[in-house]
Amino acid sequence: MSVVEEVKQKTDIVEVIGQYTALTKSGKTFRGLCPFHSEKHGSFFVYPDQQSWHCFGACGTGGDVFSFIMKKDGVTFGDALRLLAEKSGVVIPQYAAAEKTREKHDRLYQANQAAAEYYHQLLLSSPEAQKVRDYLAQRGLNAQSVEDFKLGYSPNAWDNLQRYLLERGFTIAELLEAGLVVEGDNKMQHDRFRHRLMFPITDIRGRVIGFGGRALAEDQQPKYLNSPQTPLFDKSSNLYGLHPARDAMRKEEQAVIVEGYMDVILPHQYGFKNVIASMGTAIGENHTAILKKMTKNLVLALDPDSTGEAATLRSVGLENSLGAEIQVAILPEGKDPDEIVKENAAEWQSLIAGAIPILDYTFERATAGLDLKTAKGKTDAVEKLMPIVGQIKDVVRQTYYIDKLAGLVGQSPKKLELLLLKNKGAQRAKTSTQEAGKSSVSSPVEEYCLTVILKHPELREQYGDLLPEFFDSSENREVYNAILGCDDISQVRASLDSALWEHYDRLVGRILLTNKMEAKLADAVLRLREEHLKRQAQNRADTLAVDEGNQLRELFVKKEHLGEEKRRQK
Ligand SMILES: [Zn+2]
Repeated sequence: MSVVEEVKQKTDIVEVIGQYTALTKSGKTFRGLCPFHSEKHGSFFVYPDQQSWHCFGACGTGGDVFSFIMKKDGVTFGDALRLLAEKSGVVIPQYAAAEKTREKHDRLYQANQAAAEYYHQLLLSSPEAQKVRDYLAQRGLNAQSVEDFKLGYSPNAWDNLQRYLLERGFTIAELLEAGLVVEGDNKMQHDRFRHRLMFPITDIRGRVIGFGGRALAEDQQPKYLNSPQTPLFDKSSNLYGLHPARDAMRKEEQAVIVEGYMDVILPHQYGFKNVIASMGTAIGENHTAILKKMTKNLVLALDPDSTGEAATLRSVGLENSLGAEIQVAILPEGKDPDEIVKENAAEWQSLIAGAIPILDYTFERATAGLDLKTAKGKTDAVEKLMPIVGQIKDVVRQTYYIDKLAGLVGQSPKKLELLLLKNKGAQRAKTSTQEAGKSSVSSPVEEYCLTVILKHPELREQYGDLLPEFFDSSENREVYNAILGCDDISQVRASLDSALWEHYDRLVGRILLTNKMEAKLADAVLRLREEHLKRQAQNRADTLAVDEGNQLRELFVKKEHLGEEKRRQK
């Protein structure tokens, strides 16, 4: 939850506004004299359910708790947020520090880059690295590949890199943070990578963010040592070879995912440049989010031993978030991609071309040991595969796999569908109670709309009639105002109060399915307008209901008075 949402959730709008004007409860709403214009009869309403307010008098306007404070105290959104955050005990991160963080990251990139150069020079020319050069030659790597991937050698010493980088003005704190140096139990610092073949890991822009180091001695543990999690490096969202592979992945509309560093380098050397590696972790949603900006066609090239992990429920989740089918290319047992490419490039090509959908492969594996002629075998197959099929979001594909499973176990697809519906019903009941717990967070349509606008500035013409007041949440309205105020979408973030950066980042970080963007945006704008009108109508109806109730009450009181007077007169 963002800071903005947290403050909203923890703030009671009735209590806040009640400090500015006396509110009386009438029905579901609270009513009082408008704090913004002078009046004798209260036309100012607060709606605790929607966490909003509206003046039906001279102002004719309304909003949420932030816009109330902004208007009442004449402050900016950021100030209103800070004020309410303080009241509700929410801590706002110091974004003034953001600039500092960027500078710090720049230093870490530079340290990594310098380390990569250092290791690379040693590999090329140090006598100590002769064995490594021999090893690379024996693995079939040519000089160009060593250069392209900036391979290196970390010497068999405790502090060579450390001294080299300290001399170049880096601090020990920076080297520790970059993961290049570690601190031992005795508080002594030493180089993390010693006597290893070094693979610099770059981000998609080609900046060095970390390293993988392969052991060179027999007894050296672990065989592969990676940089730890650092401010720059996170295994769950980086892939090896992304930078050199990015153009090919786009052009060929396909990414081939392998496991090891060498499995990337050799195919590149032989002209298969759409190959990347996952660096020892399973492919996750962070990976697919990066990849699908370039291509949605992913082929996992795996050796048969490690496919077990891939062929699970997770792969369906990945396919759902990818919005496409994932393929598996099964390699010959005991052979790594680098060996296959080296021995016979044509074989590599045909293996990749022969990749099958990961779900078909999952079916094969799940039923491999089962006797599908027996009742037990059939039950086992359904139990194993039905939860997987149930996760498929694409209806056409799901139907296809229901039919396939039905065929395997000799059941009618209808029966399996019923089973699926039953399970889904149970699941939906669970999620809807979870959803009900969340309230007063900003609206999904508003956020969707902003994400589209921010990510697709070319659609500017499409939202000409979208008014800031259609956004009910102040934070979204602020972002939209900033969009309208900036000629260039890239300036929006900087023009926002830093307290809104987190919210902004979340909007921009959302993943969009990018087909039919224009129609989707038009639809979202329409929905915002409708909701805006509905809100106004609803507020008015509530107010009328309250007015009616009050009038009735007044009539009733009058009648009572009359009755009393009559009694007294008797
Ligand atoms: Zn007013």
